[in-house]
Amino acid sequence: MSDLFGNTGEVRPATVARVLLPVAIGMAYSYRVPPGVSVRPGSIVRVPLGPREVVGAVWSLEPEGGSAAGNLAPSRLKNILHVYDDAPPLDEDLRTLVDWVANWTLAAPGMVLRMVLRSEEALESEPPLAGVRLSSSGTRPERMTPARQRVLEVLQDGTGFTRSGLAHAAGVSSSVVEGLLAHGVLESVELPAVPPLPRPDPDWSPPQLTPAQARASKELVAAVGQGFRTFLIDGVTGSGKTEVYFEAVAEALRQGRQALVLIPEIALTSAFLQRFERRFAVLPAEWHSEIATRQRARVWRGVASGDVRVVVGARSALFLPFRELGLVVVDEEHDGAYKQDDRVPYNARDMAVVRGHISRFPVVLASATPSVESRVNADQGRYVRLELPERATGAPMPEISIIDMRQDGPERGQWLAPTLRHAIGETLSGGGQALLFLNRRGYAPLTLCRSCGHRFQCPNCSTWLVEHRFRGRLSCHHCGHEEPSPDHCPACGDTQSLVACGPGVERIAEEAADLFPQSRVLVLSSDLQGGPDRLRREMRIIEEGGADIVVGTQLVAKGHNFPLMRLVGVVDADLGLANGDPRAAERTFQLLAQVTGRAGRIGGGGRGLLQTYAPEHPVIRALASGDSTAFYEAEIAARKAAGLPPFGRLAALIVSAPDRARAQDYARQVARLSPASPGLTVLGPAEAALALVRGRYRFRLLAMAPRNVDLQALMRSWIARLPKPTGGVRLQVDIDPQSF
Ligand code: ADP
Ligand code: ZN
Repeated sequence: MSDLFGNTGEVRPATVARVLLPVAIGMAYSYRVPPGVSVRPGSIVRVPLGPREVVGAVWSLEPEGGSAAGNLAPSRLKNILHVYDDAPPLDEDLRTLVDWVANWTLAAPGMVLRMVLRSEEALESEPPLAGVRLSSSGTRPERMTPARQRVLEVLQDGTGFTRSGLAHAAGVSSSVVEGLLAHGVLESVELPAVPPLPRPDPDWSPPQLTPAQARASKELVAAVGQGFRTFLIDGVTGSGKTEVYFEAVAEALRQGRQALVLIPEIALTSAFLQRFERRFAVLPAEWHSEIATRQRARVWRGVASGDVRVVVGARSALFLPFRELGLVVVDEEHDGAYKQDDRVPYNARDMAVVRGHISRFPVVLASATPSVESRVNADQGRYVRLELPERATGAPMPEISIIDMRQDGPERGQWLAPTLRHAIGETLSGGGQALLFLNRRGYAPLTLCRSCGHRFQCPNCSTWLVEHRFRGRLSCHHCGHEEPSPDHCPACGDTQSLVACGPGVERIAEEAADLFPQSRVLVLSSDLQGGPDRLRREMRIIEEGGADIVVGTQLVAKGHNFPLMRLVGVVDADLGLANGDPRAAERTFQLLAQVTGRAGRIGGGGRGLLQTYAPEHPVIRALASGDSTAFYEAEIAARKAAGLPPFGRLAALIVSAPDRARAQDYARQVARLSPASPGLTVLGPAEAALALVRGRYRFRLLAMAPRNVDLQALMRSWIARLPKPTGGVRLQVDIDPQSF
């Protein structure tokens, strides 16, 4: 037995607890543990903080006369107000993870804790339901009627019902139930608010694996329960990676451990959940931002109690208080959605590996287009690479060809080249579906006045307003500013001169509908109203063949199996390459490989057509040839030469303020005060790519250091030297930024 302080030996009563609170403060606060109250490290408690009461977690305990309370005698400290005894204390591994993530991201530990305590409702058990069952005294009704008979039959197997549930099950009015209760035939009973969950069955329906899948899954299964190790399943789109990691999930279940499968939020389709159900007989618990409050509380509690065995969730599921986690899978590990950009800028993929390391279990990363980071980790032997070079169904990979828009482009004012139009026609007449991919929401990215040159710009950001024609509005995709679509130019008053420049998905859909008036065209982008349920419905419509042409943004690029999808046309393959970010090539390759990978996944016969003005670009060539190795090798060599991740370490500092001069001024001070350390290179300040967002001007600095330098320590000493920002200036630090 270990004691309150993590040591074995004598236990002294703790009178002072250091409590971490979910606020942006660097440290835990001291509180007095009132006599008769017992807490231990990890206990969840409510304490006063200024005029408020907040919920936090005990981070450590001080025995009577301990020193960590500083000079404050325990009697001068405020009391812990309440201990949540229904919630299990956060275990040591989870507390270590919180500290680790805070230390790595330079975020306040309290802000990381906030991600753990995300469900306050979960801390108290739901009150039991009032129910009824057959009286234990065995009293029989004085007079039997058919209705009473039915009630008794329903209750024969001894289970309890709520009163209304019983009346419903027996098909009688509630007065029949009330009458039996009044006569003592029935008695009141407390029913659990949440009936016990059925457990996933690891042996419900094991698949017939291909030899490549069998080899990969055997390695994974052997690793479960054998400590920490990271695997990278590197398998082409449709190679059956899911079946492979499901075998590892099954093994974790057999060993009595819980499992977590992370997937990018957008891929949380009913199709994925049903696939889990087919394999394991029950649906997994879901965790993502759209889960209703009560369900969220139930999952949180179930994870902590061990009732929930498998969670499928978005990145924040990584901070759930699992009782006996034995495996984490990160599907589509390259996906940018794993990086959170707000107060705790963490990458869930990397922190999943950290959680596995802390709690000594295997972590499985899977992707058809692994990140450069994970590839290098596999090349250097830190991760075990498992390759699936072929599609599981035996279907060949789609044939990708290029449409050189400089020669074979469409007429002015159109966006689909003749070759692509022809291919769509062929696909439709062959009974297949076509996907037209353009990673741009709305109708047109810019509205321009032909008479005076006026452009419609966001008042808060340095971007154009995007026209959403279906909704009749102009909208800013950065701050949410909206205004009605104009009928005249506000600068010159001309009513005939406004033109939409460039295409978004709505405009492509319009062109497709004009070209193929008999076909059913469906637009899918994050503008879809109705939340995840609506998205799932639309996905099902596509799966079931209820659409002929799908026009979509990256929302349709990932994770879905559309059995009838034969053709993928990329409307503008150069779109992502245009920005100056060194990661642009990698990201564009990943996105386009994923989206073209939707073609012909089941029956084969898939085709991809890329419209491009830069057919010689390495990304386009890698996609067209199907040989990504040369592309990745060149990317990796370039990163190595430049000392960029994963060969060097990187942090971005973003200074913003409502006043441009103030932001720039402070950013220059930050640069001047950088620590003089060998190996540390500071670039900038430079105006950020998006210079104005939500009314704040932004400047960026980049700090680069070799791998062996403790970048976090340098950053900490740097920040400590900076003057406190004033006048609305804000400084944000982003370790491992997504864009360089
Ligand atoms: P990935 O995640 O690698 O892109 P999936 O796991 O989604 O691929 O599998 C692609 C398709 O192949 C799915 O429809 C799946 O049901 C099917 N599949 C997977 N493994 C097998 C197998 N061993 N035999 C037949 N079909 C399989
Ligand atoms: Zn804006």
